Amino acid sequence: MNALRSAIGVDIGGTKVAVGLVDGRGSITARAAFPTEPTAGFARAVKRLIEAIEQLLRECGMTPAQLAGIGIGCAGPVNPGAGTIHNPFTLPTWEGCNMVAPLREAFARPVALENDADAAVVGEAFAGAARAFRQIVMLTFGTGVGSGIFLDGAIYRGCDGEHPEAGHIPVDPEGPECYCGIRGCLEVLASGTAIAAAGRPAGFANAQAVFAAAAQGHPLANRIIERAARAVAVAGWTLAHTFMPDGIVLGGGLMAEQFNWFAAFLRQRLASASLVPRNGIQVVPATLGNDAGIIGAARLVLS
Ligand SMILES: [Zn+2]
Repeated sequence: MNALRSAIGVDIGGTKVAVGLVDGRGSITARAAFPTEPTAGFARAVKRLIEAIEQLLRECGMTPAQLAGIGIGCAGPVNPGAGTIHNPFTLPTWEGCNMVAPLREAFARPVALENDADAAVVGEAFAGAARAFRQIVMLTFGTGVGSGIFLDGAIYRGCDGEHPEAGHIPVDPEGPECYCGIRGCLEVLASGTAIAAAGRPAGFANAQAVFAAAAQGHPLANRIIERAARAVAVAGWTLAHTFMPDGIVLGGGLMAEQFNWFAAFLRQRLASASLVPRNGIQVVPATLGNDAGIIGAARLVLS
């Protein structure tokens, strides 16, 4: 493999920054990680990131000139055009900071920045579950519900370049209130946080405990999971009819263990859709796990 066909992929979350050297086939050949520590300030994080990339290059016997570039997927919102981060929720001290310029200066290579959910769908399309699809919707279930939409090889953007937030598709007008401004969106019904909150009054410690109890036939746990799975089916129906994708990819920590619960409801719902080509939309689990962000970020500069 030509060394020029390798790139650095960076996945920045609220708690951890993961860095990988990714080859032209989408494999991570070396990796590093460090805590994000957003309270320690942006300059310190940039310094640690530059050091981590330098260390990786040393380990691999490479120089920056041999890299196709550096791609970054960051917990958003971000402004990909300006290279700036605008995430008051999990990266409050980085507001408006430019992540692209200091890396470009340090390594003299192309640097690209995207929302982490967009990086994840690019990763799954490049080297994971969505390789066979052209029109892809990906939902990522964890603390919240993220979304990435990848159409004909391009990340879908909305007004002002904004990233779509399909996690806030309305599902149940009587549901719990969400910070997005409505009641009963997908995220307040089907995120890990939502499942944990619904189970707390019954003494369940977290979402995993609710799933474990549901597997044992606990009636309330079953109702919570069924409500979440129905929410995924309704939101999936909306996305299916809006984008008519080849593939709906369900990813994130929650789906890594519980894909079958959710996929069954969504597939059953789509099977009754008269306007959707029969078997035209595949519902598949993400296959790259936490690496999707690194691989997708690298792909931004490999292509
Ligand atoms: Zn919402």
